[in-house]
Amino acid sequence: MNPAHVPIEGRAGALRLDFNENTVGSSAAAIRAVRKLTAEQLATYPEYITPTASMARWFGVKPNELTLTNGADGALQHIISTFVEPRSAILLVDPTFVMYRFYAQLSGAQIVALHYDSEMKFPVDPVMQALRKSPRLFLIANPNNPTGTLIQSVVIRRMLDAAPRTLFVLDEAYTEFSGVTVLPWIRRYPNLIVVRTFSKGAGLAGLRLGCMFACPEVSSLLARTREPFPVNAAAIVAAEATLRDYRAVRRYGKEVGVAREFLSNALVRFGAKVFPSAANFILADFGESAPQILRRLSKRRILLRDRTSDFGRPGYVRITIGTQSQMRRLIRELQSLFPGKTS
Ligand SMILES: *Cc1c(COP(=O)(O)O)cnc(C)c1O
Repeated sequence: MNPAHVPIEGRAGALRLDFNENTVGSSAAAIRAVRKLTAEQLATYPEYITPTASMARWFGVKPNELTLTNGADGALQHIISTFVEPRSAILLVDPTFVMYRFYAQLSGAQIVALHYDSEMKFPVDPVMQALRKSPRLFLIANPNNPTGTLIQSVVIRRMLDAAPRTLFVLDEAYTEFSGVTVLPWIRRYPNLIVVRTFSKGAGLAGLRLGCMFACPEVSSLLARTREPFPVNAAAIVAAEATLRDYRAVRRYGKEVGVAREFLSNALVRFGAKVFPSAANFILADFGESAPQILRRLSKRRILLRDRTSDFGRPGYVRITIGTQSQMRRLIRELQSLFPGKTS
C-alpha cells in the first residue's frame, strides 16, 4: 500500500481530479524534447551541471543555490534524511501533504502536530509558541494540500525570524496557481529551503522532477549527502523544454483560476461548503452525501479524492481543477445526483 492510501492504478482515460495533476497533459515542447532523446543519451548517466545552471538562470538563482531532485517527494525525503535524527522534532500543521508525516515517521522523528481549525485557518499563535522550542524542521505546504489555503508572506517572515535554528521547508508545489513564492528569501534566511515540482502546473508528474533552493551552505550539504543520479535524463530535457515554452504553463494556470471560481460557485449552489483555495484544487464538504457522490462519480470515470481520513468524519472531498469544459462535465454529473438543485 502506498502511503497516500489510495488506489493509484487504472486511472488512464478517466477524468483525473484526484491527484492535482495537470489535466491537459505536459506542454507540446516537453513531448518533443523527450521524443528527440537519442540512444546514446539513454545509455549515458545523466549530467547535471549544465542543466542546473540553465534552470538556475530561469529561476533567478545561482547554480549553487539549486538542487535537482527526483520529484518534490525526493527533495522532502532527502532533506529529512539529511537533517533529522531519531527523536528530532518535526513540526507539522495537519491536515497537510501526507508524505511529510510518512518521511518523518521513517526517520524516527518526534512529530509535533498542530491543526488547522474548522474554517481551515492556519493556527499562527500555536505555531509561534511551538517554534519557541526550535524544532529541527518545520514542513509547510504553501498553498497547503489538501486545504488549498495560503499563509500570508508576513506570517512566514515572522515565523522565520522567530526560529533561526529551525529549518523551514516551504513546499511551493502549487506556485503556478497561487502566484506566490518566497524563493528570493533564501538569500536572507539560511534556515529556509524552498521546494518546487514539475509534477503539478508543468504537467510532468510521470517523469518525476523537483528541485530545492537554499543558501549555498545548505545546498552543498544536501549535495554531499545525495545519491549520484537521482534525476533521469528524460526529466531534464522535458523540464528545460517546459521552461523555454513557459507560456503554456502560464496559460494553463490562468484557465485553472477561472475554472476554480466557476466550480466553487456551482458547488455552493449544490449545498457544499467550499474553502477558499489558491491552488489547482478545492476542498469541499459535502456532508453525508460525500460517499454516494464519490461512488457515483467513479462509476462515471470521474475520480475525486476522499479526504475523510484527514478530518475524522466523512464529507470532505478534494477536487482537482482542470479546464472549464472538464469542470462543466463534473457539474453535469453532480446535477444528475442533485436533481432538485440548479446550477
Ligand atoms: C503533489 C505534491 C508534492 C509531490 O510532488 P512530486 O514532485 O510529484 O513528488 C509535494 N508537495 C505537495 C504539497 C504536493 O501536493
